[in-house]
Amino acid sequence: MLVSAKDMLNKAKAGHYAVGQFNINNLEWTKAILMTAQELNSPVILGVSEGAGKYMTGYKTVVGMVNGMMEELNMTVPVALHLDHGSFDGCLKCIEAGFSSIMFDGSHYPIEENIDKTKKLVEICKTKGMSLEAEVGSIGGEEDGVVGTGECADPDECKMIADLGITMLAAGIGNIHGKYPENWAGLSFETLDAIQKLTGDMPLVLHGGTGIPEDMIKKAISLGVAKINVNTECQLAFAEATRKYIEAGKDLQGKGFDPRKLLAPGTDAIKATVKEKMELFGSFDKA
Ligand SMILES: [Zn+2]
Repeated sequence: MLVSAKDMLNKAKAGHYAVGQFNINNLEWTKAILMTAQELNSPVILGVSEGAGKYMTGYKTVVGMVNGMMEELNMTVPVALHLDHGSFDGCLKCIEAGFSSIMFDGSHYPIEENIDKTKKLVEICKTKGMSLEAEVGSIGGEEDGVVGTGECADPDECKMIADLGITMLAAGIGNIHGKYPENWAGLSFETLDAIQKLTGDMPLVLHGGTGIPEDMIKKAISLGVAKINVNTECQLAFAEATRKYIEAGKDLQGKGFDPRKLLAPGTDAIKATVKEKMELFGSFDKA
């Protein structure tokens, strides 16, 4: 039932909208995202970082949970299960575990090595009918000690990687992971425009979707971005709603300590965030 992200992203690129990748951490996250996608009749990509995969005890657990949940929820919209920022070995593990899509992040390697490793994965993904995302130009983030602007990818290097037969390309255009600093210079649309001119129909991926102003998101979509990654925003929404519940003392009232009650406000907050993003990205009713 899981599908490659190829068709949904090619359609998005041609139709000038973007499909959201929402990262999952546990059952509540997965349920909130899947239910919202079905409700809005939107294609969706579930992102799993290597850390989140480990947290959920391994990729096989993730595949089992997602497949089971899709069946129980009678999902009809296209869903891809995607490894986010995978290492080469992580990619191989996810391919074996039953993911339908992977991202190989070789951006920290010299370009020749990035190309070499990406090529190997292109071959495997082709035989398995899986989608493959590659990255050029590292995307900064607070966790890497990077403040200010993220790095901008070299459009010629983007073209080299795009030509290897990948499905979608993540390129740094000043975007960063996590919250954006006050003095952030914004996205480099010049870089994005140059990349799109060289890579043609290739769906482009925008990482670090949390906190990018709406007009910039829309402009990025108009310049070929067809996949936008959202992670931190769901985490912040979940934490805020959960804190409010605890601070209001609701866990101390009646059976308010029941995890199904305790985690409900956070789950609803993820749903609301995902809905808002699907509306902004234009992916609703595109399943
Ligand atoms: Zn990313």
